[in-house]
Amino acid sequence: MVDRVLHRRRFAGAITLASVGFMLASQVAPVFARQATPAIGVATLGWTDELSDDNGKLNVVTTVAPISSIARNIGGARIDLYGVVPDGTNSHTFEPAPSDARVLAQADIIFVNGLDLDLPTMELAEANLRDGAEIVSLGEQTVSEAEWVFDFSFPEEDGSPNPHLWTNPPYAKRYAEIIAATLSARDPDNAAYYAENLTRYSDALDALDVAIASSVTTVPAENRKLLTYHDSWAYFAPRYGFVVIGAVQPSDFSEPSPQEVAGLIDQIEAERVPAVFGSEVFASDVLEQIAAEAGADYIDQLRDDAPPGEPNAPEHTYLGMMIRNMDLMLSALGGNADAVTALSPADTYEGS
Ligand SMILES: [Zn+2]
Repeated sequence: MVDRVLHRRRFAGAITLASVGFMLASQVAPVFARQATPAIGVATLGWTDELSDDNGKLNVVTTVAPISSIARNIGGARIDLYGVVPDGTNSHTFEPAPSDARVLAQADIIFVNGLDLDLPTMELAEANLRDGAEIVSLGEQTVSEAEWVFDFSFPEEDGSPNPHLWTNPPYAKRYAEIIAATLSARDPDNAAYYAENLTRYSDALDALDVAIASSVTTVPAENRKLLTYHDSWAYFAPRYGFVVIGAVQPSDFSEPSPQEVAGLIDQIEAERVPAVFGSEVFASDVLEQIAAEAGADYIDQLRDDAPPGEPNAPEHTYLGMMIRNMDLMLSALGGNADAVTALSPADTYEGS
Protein backbone atom coordinates (compact mmCIF):
# COMPACT_ATOMS: atom_id res chain seq x y z
CA MET A 1 0.00 0.00 0.00
CA VAL A 2 2.78 2.37 0.95
CA ASP A 3 4.49 1.47 -2.28
CA ARG A 4 1.40 2.34 -4.30
CA VAL A 5 0.94 5.63 -2.54
CA LEU A 6 4.53 6.60 -3.27
CA HIS A 7 4.09 5.84 -6.92
CA ARG A 8 0.89 7.78 -7.39
CA ARG A 9 1.68 10.57 -9.75
CA ARG A 10 -0.40 12.99 -11.69
CA PHE A 11 -0.06 12.28 -15.40
CA ALA A 12 -2.30 15.02 -16.68
CA GLY A 13 -3.72 18.19 -15.27
CA ALA A 14 -7.12 17.70 -13.75
CA ILE A 15 -10.00 19.60 -15.27
CA THR A 16 -10.78 22.63 -13.17
CA LEU A 17 -14.15 24.24 -12.79
CA ALA A 18 -12.99 27.12 -14.93
CA SER A 19 -12.02 24.84 -17.81
CA VAL A 20 -15.29 22.93 -17.48
CA GLY A 21 -17.13 26.14 -18.07
CA PHE A 22 -15.04 26.71 -21.15
CA MET A 23 -15.71 23.21 -22.44
CA LEU A 24 -19.43 23.55 -21.90
CA ALA A 25 -19.50 26.77 -23.80
CA SER A 26 -17.28 25.72 -26.66
CA GLN A 27 -17.69 21.98 -27.18
CA VAL A 28 -20.87 20.56 -25.79
CA ALA A 29 -23.72 20.90 -28.21
CA PRO A 30 -27.03 20.77 -26.34
CA VAL A 31 -28.54 17.59 -27.69
CA PHE A 32 -31.94 16.54 -26.49
CA ALA A 33 -32.85 14.09 -29.22
CA ARG A 34 -36.46 12.98 -29.31
CA GLN A 35 -35.81 9.50 -30.69
CA ALA A 36 -35.45 6.60 -28.27
CA THR A 37 -31.93 5.77 -29.40
CA PRO A 38 -29.65 8.55 -30.57
CA ALA A 39 -28.46 7.75 -34.09
CA ILE A 40 -24.75 7.36 -34.76
CA GLY A 41 -23.40 10.80 -35.43
CA VAL A 42 -25.46 12.40 -32.68
CA ALA A 43 -23.25 13.75 -29.92
CA THR A 44 -23.52 12.33 -26.43
CA LEU A 45 -24.00 14.58 -23.43
CA GLY A 46 -20.72 13.32 -22.03
CA TRP A 47 -19.79 13.84 -18.38
CA THR A 48 -18.57 17.40 -17.96
CA ASP A 49 -21.76 19.13 -16.83
CA GLU A 50 -21.41 22.14 -14.61
CA LEU A 51 -23.04 21.09 -11.35
CA SER A 52 -25.88 23.28 -10.16
CA ASP A 53 -28.24 23.31 -7.19
CA ASP A 54 -30.76 25.46 -9.01
CA ASN A 55 -32.10 23.23 -11.78
CA GLY A 56 -33.80 20.41 -9.87
CA LYS A 57 -31.40 17.77 -11.16
CA LEU A 58 -29.30 15.46 -9.01
CA ASN A 59 -25.61 16.34 -9.00
CA VAL A 60 -23.81 13.10 -9.80
CA VAL A 61 -20.03 12.80 -9.64
CA THR A 62 -18.13 9.80 -11.01
CA THR A 63 -14.48 8.80 -11.27
CA VAL A 64 -13.31 6.77 -14.31
CA ALA A 65 -14.87 7.13 -17.77
CA PRO A 66 -16.58 3.70 -17.93
CA ILE A 67 -18.53 4.56 -14.78
CA SER A 68 -19.27 8.05 -16.11
CA SER A 69 -20.59 6.58 -19.36
CA ILE A 70 -22.77 4.04 -17.57
CA ALA A 71 -24.15 6.74 -15.24
CA ARG A 72 -25.00 8.96 -18.24
CA ASN A 73 -26.90 6.12 -19.87
CA ILE A 74 -29.07 5.70 -16.78
CA GLY A 75 -29.42 9.33 -15.70
CA GLY A 76 -29.65 10.65 -19.26
CA ALA A 77 -30.57 14.32 -19.53
CA ARG A 78 -32.17 14.39 -16.08
CA ILE A 79 -28.97 14.44 -14.04
CA ASP A 80 -25.97 16.74 -14.00
CA LEU A 81 -22.91 14.52 -14.31
CA TYR A 82 -19.26 15.24 -13.77
CA GLY A 83 -16.42 12.69 -14.10
CA VAL A 84 -13.33 13.76 -12.19
CA VAL A 85 -10.69 11.51 -13.83
CA PRO A 86 -9.68 13.28 -17.06
CA ASP A 87 -9.39 11.43 -20.37
CA GLY A 88 -6.06 9.74 -20.99
CA THR A 89 -5.02 9.83 -17.33
CA ASN A 90 -3.58 6.89 -15.42
CA SER A 91 -6.60 6.23 -13.23
CA HIS A 92 -4.58 3.99 -10.90
CA THR A 93 -2.28 6.81 -9.85
CA PHE A 94 -4.74 9.67 -10.27
CA GLU A 95 -4.82 12.19 -7.46
CA PRO A 96 -7.72 14.65 -7.57
CA ALA A 97 -6.84 18.33 -7.79
CA PRO A 98 -7.83 20.75 -5.02
CA SER A 99 -10.47 22.14 -7.38
CA ASP A 100 -12.06 18.67 -7.47
CA ALA A 101 -12.88 19.12 -3.78
CA ARG A 102 -15.34 21.83 -4.78
CA VAL A 103 -16.99 19.51 -7.30
CA LEU A 104 -17.20 16.69 -4.75
CA ALA A 105 -18.68 19.07 -2.17
CA GLN A 106 -21.51 19.85 -4.61
CA ALA A 107 -22.37 16.21 -5.28
CA ASP A 108 -25.55 14.51 -4.15
CA ILE A 109 -24.16 11.11 -5.17
CA ILE A 110 -20.58 10.07 -5.87
CA PHE A 111 -20.14 6.78 -7.72
CA VAL A 112 -16.68 5.27 -7.36
CA ASN A 113 -15.35 1.96 -8.65
CA GLY A 114 -13.91 0.97 -5.30
CA LEU A 115 -11.63 -2.06 -4.87
CA ASP A 116 -8.97 0.57 -4.13
CA LEU A 117 -8.86 1.93 -7.73
CA ASP A 118 -10.04 5.42 -6.90
CA LEU A 119 -9.09 5.62 -3.25
CA PRO A 120 -7.66 9.19 -3.29
CA THR A 121 -10.87 10.54 -4.89
CA MET A 122 -12.97 8.55 -2.42
CA GLU A 123 -11.01 9.98 0.50
CA LEU A 124 -11.36 13.54 -0.83
CA ALA A 125 -15.08 12.88 -1.34
CA GLU A 126 -15.48 11.69 2.25
CA ALA A 127 -13.70 14.79 3.52
CA ASN A 128 -15.95 17.09 1.48
CA LEU A 129 -19.27 15.23 1.56
CA ARG A 130 -22.17 17.60 2.14
CA ASP A 131 -25.17 16.80 4.31
CA GLY A 132 -27.34 14.11 2.80
CA ALA A 133 -24.87 13.18 0.07
CA GLU A 134 -23.62 9.62 -0.34
CA ILE A 135 -20.69 7.71 -1.80
CA VAL A 136 -21.61 4.51 -3.63
CA SER A 137 -18.80 2.05 -4.28
CA LEU A 138 -19.86 -0.09 -7.23
CA GLY A 139 -17.20 -2.80 -7.23
CA GLU A 140 -17.90 -3.99 -3.70
CA GLN A 141 -21.61 -4.37 -4.57
CA THR A 142 -20.87 -6.23 -7.80
CA VAL A 143 -18.55 -9.01 -6.67
CA SER A 144 -17.96 -10.66 -3.33
CA GLU A 145 -14.51 -10.91 -1.84
CA ALA A 146 -14.45 -14.56 -2.92
CA GLU A 147 -14.68 -13.37 -6.55
CA TRP A 148 -11.81 -10.91 -6.34
CA VAL A 149 -8.92 -11.65 -8.70
CA PHE A 150 -5.34 -11.12 -7.60
CA ASP A 151 -2.83 -11.46 -10.40
CA PHE A 152 0.22 -9.99 -12.13
CA SER A 153 -0.07 -6.27 -11.44
CA PHE A 154 -2.42 -6.77 -8.48
CA PRO A 155 -0.68 -9.39 -6.32
CA GLU A 156 -2.39 -10.68 -3.22
CA GLU A 157 0.42 -9.51 -0.94
CA ASP A 158 -0.39 -5.88 -1.86
CA GLY A 159 -3.96 -6.44 -0.69
CA SER A 160 -5.76 -4.63 -3.53
CA PRO A 161 -7.60 -6.85 -6.04
CA ASN A 162 -7.66 -6.24 -9.76
CA PRO A 163 -10.27 -3.47 -9.95
CA HIS A 164 -11.20 -3.71 -13.69
CA LEU A 165 -14.63 -5.31 -13.27
CA TRP A 166 -16.16 -3.36 -16.15
CA THR A 167 -14.26 -5.18 -18.92
CA ASN A 168 -16.80 -7.92 -18.13
CA PRO A 169 -20.10 -6.57 -19.61
CA PRO A 170 -22.37 -8.43 -17.15
CA TYR A 171 -20.52 -6.64 -14.36
CA ALA A 172 -21.00 -3.35 -16.22
CA LYS A 173 -24.71 -4.21 -16.26
CA ARG A 174 -24.60 -4.69 -12.50
CA TYR A 175 -23.03 -1.22 -12.20
CA ALA A 176 -25.93 0.15 -14.26
CA GLU A 177 -28.47 -1.57 -12.00
CA ILE A 178 -26.87 -0.15 -8.84
CA ILE A 179 -26.76 3.32 -10.39
CA ALA A 180 -30.43 3.09 -11.46
CA ALA A 181 -31.51 1.98 -7.98
CA THR A 182 -29.51 4.78 -6.34
CA LEU A 183 -30.84 7.51 -8.66
CA SER A 184 -34.43 6.28 -8.28
CA ALA A 185 -34.23 6.23 -4.49
CA ARG A 186 -33.05 9.83 -4.36
CA ASP A 187 -35.18 11.14 -7.22
CA PRO A 188 -38.44 9.13 -7.21
CA ASP A 189 -40.15 11.57 -9.59
CA ASN A 190 -37.84 10.34 -12.34
CA ALA A 191 -37.75 6.68 -11.29
CA ALA A 192 -39.74 5.54 -14.34
CA TYR A 193 -37.34 7.41 -16.64
CA TYR A 194 -34.30 5.80 -14.99
CA ALA A 195 -35.97 2.39 -15.19
CA GLU A 196 -36.63 2.80 -18.92
CA ASN A 197 -33.06 3.88 -19.49
CA LEU A 198 -31.82 0.87 -17.53
CA THR A 199 -33.91 -1.47 -19.68
CA ARG A 200 -32.52 -0.01 -22.90
CA TYR A 201 -28.94 0.04 -21.68
CA SER A 202 -29.18 -3.49 -20.26
CA ASP A 203 -30.39 -4.68 -23.64
CA ALA A 204 -27.34 -3.07 -25.27
CA LEU A 205 -25.00 -4.67 -22.72
CA ASP A 206 -26.65 -8.07 -23.20
CA ALA A 207 -26.21 -7.69 -26.97
CA LEU A 208 -22.55 -6.81 -26.43
CA ASP A 209 -22.08 -9.87 -24.22
CA VAL A 210 -23.68 -12.19 -26.79
CA ALA A 211 -21.73 -10.66 -29.69
CA ILE A 212 -18.40 -10.99 -27.87
CA ALA A 213 -19.13 -14.61 -26.98
CA SER A 214 -20.02 -15.50 -30.56
CA SER A 215 -17.04 -13.60 -32.00
CA VAL A 216 -14.64 -15.38 -29.63
CA THR A 217 -15.66 -18.69 -31.20
CA THR A 218 -13.99 -17.46 -34.42
CA VAL A 219 -10.64 -17.11 -32.61
CA PRO A 220 -8.64 -20.36 -32.82
CA ALA A 221 -8.81 -21.97 -29.37
CA GLU A 222 -5.02 -22.04 -29.00
CA ASN A 223 -4.93 -18.25 -29.57
CA ARG A 224 -7.33 -17.34 -26.77
CA LYS A 225 -4.50 -16.01 -24.63
CA LEU A 226 -3.87 -12.47 -23.51
CA LEU A 227 -0.55 -10.93 -22.74
CA THR A 228 -1.09 -7.26 -22.12
CA TYR A 229 0.90 -4.34 -20.85
CA HIS A 230 -1.82 -3.07 -18.51
CA ASP A 231 -3.55 -5.75 -16.45
CA SER A 232 -7.20 -4.98 -17.14
CA TRP A 233 -8.72 -8.21 -18.51
CA ALA A 234 -8.86 -10.39 -15.40
CA TYR A 235 -12.67 -10.50 -15.28
CA PHE A 236 -13.20 -10.48 -19.05
CA ALA A 237 -11.02 -13.55 -19.63
CA PRO A 238 -12.96 -16.19 -17.65
CA ARG A 239 -16.27 -14.91 -19.03
CA TYR A 240 -15.24 -15.59 -22.64
CA GLY A 241 -12.79 -18.48 -22.34
CA PHE A 242 -9.54 -16.54 -22.48
CA VAL A 243 -6.49 -17.06 -20.30
CA VAL A 244 -4.50 -14.03 -19.18
CA ILE A 245 -0.97 -15.41 -19.41
CA GLY A 246 0.71 -12.25 -18.21
CA ALA A 247 0.74 -8.51 -17.74
CA VAL A 248 3.94 -6.58 -18.25
CA GLN A 249 3.28 -3.62 -15.99
CA PRO A 250 4.68 -4.09 -12.48
CA SER A 251 2.38 -3.49 -9.54
CA ASP A 252 4.03 -0.15 -8.77
CA PHE A 253 3.38 1.06 -12.36
CA SER A 254 7.12 1.28 -13.06
CA GLU A 255 8.82 -0.67 -15.89
CA PRO A 256 9.63 -4.41 -15.73
CA SER A 257 13.16 -5.55 -14.92
CA PRO A 258 15.46 -7.08 -17.61
CA GLN A 259 14.89 -10.51 -16.03
CA GLU A 260 11.12 -10.05 -16.24
CA VAL A 261 11.45 -8.96 -19.88
CA ALA A 262 13.51 -12.06 -20.74
CA GLY A 263 10.94 -14.24 -19.01
CA LEU A 264 8.07 -12.68 -20.96
CA ILE A 265 9.86 -13.22 -24.29
CA ASP A 266 10.35 -16.91 -23.42
CA GLN A 267 6.71 -17.17 -22.41
CA ILE A 268 5.38 -15.64 -25.64
CA GLU A 269 7.53 -18.00 -27.70
CA ALA A 270 6.54 -21.04 -25.64
CA GLU A 271 2.82 -20.20 -25.76
CA ARG A 272 2.99 -19.22 -29.48
CA VAL A 273 0.96 -16.09 -28.82
CA PRO A 274 0.32 -14.31 -32.15
CA ALA A 275 -0.12 -10.84 -30.66
CA VAL A 276 0.50 -8.91 -27.49
CA PHE A 277 -1.41 -5.85 -26.42
CA GLY A 278 -0.38 -2.44 -25.24
CA SER A 279 -2.63 0.29 -24.03
CA GLU A 280 -3.53 3.77 -25.25
CA VAL A 281 -2.84 5.31 -21.88
CA PHE A 282 0.39 3.44 -21.13
CA ALA A 283 2.70 3.67 -24.13
CA SER A 284 5.35 0.98 -23.70
CA ASP A 285 8.58 0.71 -25.63
CA VAL A 286 9.33 -2.34 -23.52
CA LEU A 287 6.33 -4.30 -24.73
CA GLU A 288 7.06 -3.30 -28.32
CA GLN A 289 10.59 -4.65 -27.90
CA ILE A 290 9.31 -7.85 -26.25
CA ALA A 291 6.91 -8.43 -29.14
CA ALA A 292 9.60 -7.82 -31.74
CA GLU A 293 12.04 -10.22 -30.10
CA ALA A 294 9.38 -12.89 -29.59
CA GLY A 295 8.00 -12.55 -33.13
CA ALA A 296 4.51 -11.49 -32.08
CA ASP A 297 2.42 -8.62 -33.41
CA TYR A 298 2.22 -5.62 -31.13
CA ILE A 299 -1.18 -3.94 -30.86
CA ASP A 300 -0.78 -0.80 -28.79
CA GLN A 301 -4.31 0.52 -28.59
CA LEU A 302 -6.38 -1.42 -26.05
CA ARG A 303 -8.25 0.82 -23.64
CA ASP A 304 -9.56 0.03 -20.23
CA ASP A 305 -10.84 3.40 -19.11
CA ALA A 306 -10.29 5.83 -22.00
CA PRO A 307 -13.13 5.65 -24.55
CA PRO A 308 -12.15 6.28 -28.19
CA GLY A 309 -12.94 9.48 -30.06
CA GLU A 310 -13.25 13.01 -28.84
CA PRO A 311 -15.37 13.86 -25.79
CA ASN A 312 -19.05 13.93 -26.82
CA ALA A 313 -18.43 11.90 -29.99
CA PRO A 314 -20.95 9.04 -30.30
CA GLU A 315 -18.22 6.39 -29.88
CA HIS A 316 -16.79 8.11 -26.79
CA THR A 317 -18.70 5.71 -24.54
CA TYR A 318 -18.18 2.50 -22.58
CA LEU A 319 -19.89 0.58 -25.40
CA GLY A 320 -17.65 2.26 -27.98
CA MET A 321 -14.57 1.37 -25.97
CA MET A 322 -15.48 -2.31 -25.70
CA ILE A 323 -16.42 -2.53 -29.40
CA ARG A 324 -13.06 -1.00 -30.38
CA ASN A 325 -11.20 -3.32 -28.01
CA MET A 326 -12.85 -6.41 -29.45
CA ASP A 327 -12.16 -5.32 -33.01
CA LEU A 328 -8.45 -4.95 -32.19
CA MET A 329 -8.07 -7.95 -29.92
CA LEU A 330 -10.07 -10.62 -31.71
CA SER A 331 -8.75 -9.66 -35.16
CA ALA A 332 -5.12 -9.78 -33.97
CA LEU A 333 -5.67 -13.25 -32.53
CA GLY A 334 -7.03 -14.62 -35.81
CA GLY A 335 -10.74 -14.12 -35.24
CA ASN A 336 -13.51 -11.99 -36.67
CA ALA A 337 -15.21 -9.30 -34.61
CA ASP A 338 -17.94 -8.39 -37.13
CA ALA A 339 -20.73 -9.36 -34.73
CA VAL A 340 -19.37 -6.85 -32.22
CA THR A 341 -18.50 -4.04 -34.63
CA ALA A 342 -22.04 -4.20 -36.03
CA LEU A 343 -23.32 -2.91 -32.68
CA SER A 344 -23.95 0.78 -32.08
CA PRO A 345 -21.50 2.46 -29.70
CA ALA A 346 -23.93 5.29 -29.04
CA ASP A 347 -25.63 6.10 -25.76
CA THR A 348 -29.10 4.60 -25.37
CA TYR A 349 -30.86 7.01 -22.98
CA GLU A 350 -33.88 9.02 -23.97
CA GLY A 351 -33.02 12.60 -24.70
CA SER A 352 -35.41 14.35 -22.37
ZN1 LIG B 1 -6.59 0.23 -15.53
